[in-house]
Amino acid sequence: MDKNLSILIKQVVDRKEELIDLVKDLISYKTPAPPARNTKDAQEFVAGFMKNLGFTIDTWDVYPNDPNVVGVLEGTDSENYKSLIINGHIDVAEVDEAEQWEVDPFTPVVKNNAIIGRGAADMKGGLAGAMFAFQLLHDAGVKLPGDIIFQSVIGEEVGEAGTWECCKRGYKADFAVVVDTSDLHIQGQGGVITGWITVKSEKTFHDATRRSMIHAGGGLSGASAIEKMMKVIEGLQELERHWAVTKSYPGFLPGTNTINPAVIEGGRHAAFIADECRLWITVHYYPDESHEQVATEIEEHILGIAKADLWLRDNLPTFEWGGTSMIEDRGEIFPSLEIDPNHAGVKLLASTHEHISKQHAIIDVSPTVTDGGWLGEAGIPTVIYGPGDLNNAHAVNEQVSIEQLLEYTKVILAFIYEWSFTKKSS
Ligand SMILES: [Zn+2]
Repeated sequence: MDKNLSILIKQVVDRKEELIDLVKDLISYKTPAPPARNTKDAQEFVAGFMKNLGFTIDTWDVYPNDPNVVGVLEGTDSENYKSLIINGHIDVAEVDEAEQWEVDPFTPVVKNNAIIGRGAADMKGGLAGAMFAFQLLHDAGVKLPGDIIFQSVIGEEVGEAGTWECCKRGYKADFAVVVDTSDLHIQGQGGVITGWITVKSEKTFHDATRRSMIHAGGGLSGASAIEKMMKVIEGLQELERHWAVTKSYPGFLPGTNTINPAVIEGGRHAAFIADECRLWITVHYYPDESHEQVATEIEEHILGIAKADLWLRDNLPTFEWGGTSMIEDRGEIFPSLEIDPNHAGVKLLASTHEHISKQHAIIDVSPTVTDGGWLGEAGIPTVIYGPGDLNNAHAVNEQVSIEQLLEYTKVILAFIYEWSFTKKSS
């Protein structure tokens, strides 16, 4: 390792109080989502911090009061050296009134060598560590040859793809690291897509017609949309079991590819036969599958069942997939992310981790979803690598270990440096 770099890495520990203060500063901005629409001040702080380090700032409202921030540090020889995206979300999981925190979730404290506060693990620790790494590089006067793009995005906790907005705005790089909660594993992920399945009757019947609809001699052809939805739900369970038996992916327990009937709405009033029923499902799929593919499989299976039903065949269920926000249009997509362990970026991150932590790098899959899938969807080789563990993410007394935060900051600092000094041709 470069001598300059060794000196810089030592500074992570020497100046750790500054890093801890930075994590605490970020946590003290209240950015829970839901309710969201509250990240402006935090994002202004991040933008100001990165601007002081020489980054050019691009900021725009994804939603009112929820701006994305992208900082670009142009390399001294962009054409010949590799570019890097560091990505993290500024929003944090909501805090329920009933939660019994030992401290105020937005007044972080240090206790037992950990920082406690909402977002410590997911993922203001990761964001702060990367920001601090750039601070140290800046203070040492290091001029990186490759381009750096730092993204602080909104909306991740409510399925709003601030990261996809960055991709659509044209930000690309040779490699990306999403510094979200991974317990310092290098991770890919499965994907999630939500969908609405609707069963709808063209005609509305009074409750008193039920006898004629279901018993011998009644002569009335009709059905309850709620009862017909039972067939759809059974069909989903059948497909879910089929997937569990026939599909697998290394690192996931068999049957992780679930179809959850999460919310059901239907019927208009007790005096009517239900003429509409809507089911909101959450589908988890494996890294080597796409959301388009699993949506098609579900539609084909459910339509097959519907076509064998005497009423549903003339009143086929309809499907609406995905969405842009769990709180605006009640839908979301998190694309899956596959890692190529032989990619130069993955290999460098793994070797940097091993060199600094003196522990074997673990390359596996996240049991949850992050924005990494969006960067992958944009064609950017991407990994998830950040401090904190998932037992802490979204939890009461959420915390990040200072030891792990320091280790992560050293690794990300060394990785940024080494990657930026890697020739595009290599
Ligand atoms: Zn997160």
